[in-house]
Amino acid sequence: MIRNYSPEQFINNFIQCRYKEKSMQEEIVNIAKEVIKSIRLNGEEALKEYVKKFDGIVPKQWEVTKEERELAWKNISNEIVVTLKKAAKNIKEFHKKQLQQSRFMDLSEDIISGQLFRPIERVGIYVPGGTACYPSTVLMNAIPASLAGVEEIIMTTPARMGERISPILSVAADIAGVDKIYKIGGIQAIAALAYGTETMQAVDKIVGPGNAYVAAAKSLVFGDVGIDMIAGPSEVAIIADENANPTFIAADLIAQAEHDVQARTFLFTTSEKLLSETKLELIKQCECLPRREIAEKSLEFQSASVIVDSIDMAFDLVNQLAPEHLEIQLDQPLTYLNKVKNAGSVFLGYHTPEALGDYFAGPNHVLPTGGTARFSSGLSVDDFMKKTTFLYYSKAALENASKDVVTLANQEKLAGHARAVQVRIQENKQM
Ligand code: NAD
Repeated sequence: MIRNYSPEQFINNFIQCRYKEKSMQEEIVNIAKEVIKSIRLNGEEALKEYVKKFDGIVPKQWEVTKEERELAWKNISNEIVVTLKKAAKNIKEFHKKQLQQSRFMDLSEDIISGQLFRPIERVGIYVPGGTACYPSTVLMNAIPASLAGVEEIIMTTPARMGERISPILSVAADIAGVDKIYKIGGIQAIAALAYGTETMQAVDKIVGPGNAYVAAAKSLVFGDVGIDMIAGPSEVAIIADENANPTFIAADLIAQAEHDVQARTFLFTTSEKLLSETKLELIKQCECLPRREIAEKSLEFQSASVIVDSIDMAFDLVNQLAPEHLEIQLDQPLTYLNKVKNAGSVFLGYHTPEALGDYFAGPNHVLPTGGTARFSSGLSVDDFMKKTTFLYYSKAALENASKDVVTLANQEKLAGHARAVQVRIQENKQM
């Protein structure tokens, strides 16, 4: 069960080892390199070979047909449809407010400048499907893309049920505005999305989570296409004092730990009593958990509890950790928000479990992991937009700026740059 660390031990074991963990993926990267190279060179033939090798069955056609998508609606309960639509509405409302309009920065007679906001044309969304089914991932990835105005949203997921994909994924894709769904998973899917095949057109950007093979493939195709991020194991950090409820804390730690044996959970508290009560709760709540084995391994080997001298010290450790999810289970939680420097998403108070955000509330659940919240953010509408700047100068404005531009061009020994300004000034003088 979750082990205690002193603040110093915590820094050594969970923050400073960040970069060592990454190099352990080398074997997976080599497999991904081989598969991507082969699909890039041999297209469809290689795609079929690797789908057969890693997933056992090659579907008759890659794309889910219109008829299959229509049939999916009949194969799930009305209750699920209603819930998916409610979640989609909340996610849409939240992300709509992120939309930015093209704008002028300067709009005078002589100088005009500004920024155009344009959607990415074709986006690929990877929806994991090796061991579980994630309709929430469909909504969280496709809704911001759709709001941004992406022309074609292509989803890909492994066919888990022989020839078919889960009907709930297909329905979620319809609700979220996905144009095409392909039954391909793993490295093969990322390679096909990035480079295209005889039957699939390449996309401009790939988003969505996945296992270590998917993550390695995304990192290798980055540069040829855009990617959102490299998602590592999921994490939650909880800050709590003696007023918090150990039953709630244990439940939230378990909710994270049940994802994966690599999932990481952290509890920072000023209260020894709360910690010992939480530990008892963890044992009790794990007993009746269907994914007990996974959760217990994660709690035993990837997790930590730290007794801190003060809440400020807890925030200091959390800011160094930069966790994917942060729960602040303290009275007056909003007053602590300004102490957060690095975290993917923050959940405030005793009645805001991370699970609410995972599925339903509105903010995105695709978040930076492994300390990357120090420099990056969760998925948003921005991930599906490009910003193009524009500039106009009149003759008079160029004349005004010419001396400074020529000075800098000469300083960099780029005579052609200087000339591009000088020829215009000279022409102005001759006129
Ligand atoms: P997945 O779809 O990511 O991977 C399945 C694919 O992996 C298979 O189709 C297969 O092609 C490939 N594969 C499996 N073993 C292989 C091998 N030995 N060599 C080459 N390829 C191989 O599904 P998954 O495995 O269930 O993983 C899903 C991951 O996504 C989990 O870690 C889960 O926690 C994570 N996840 C994250 C979020 C998030 O928002 N952060 C959401 C949902 C899921």
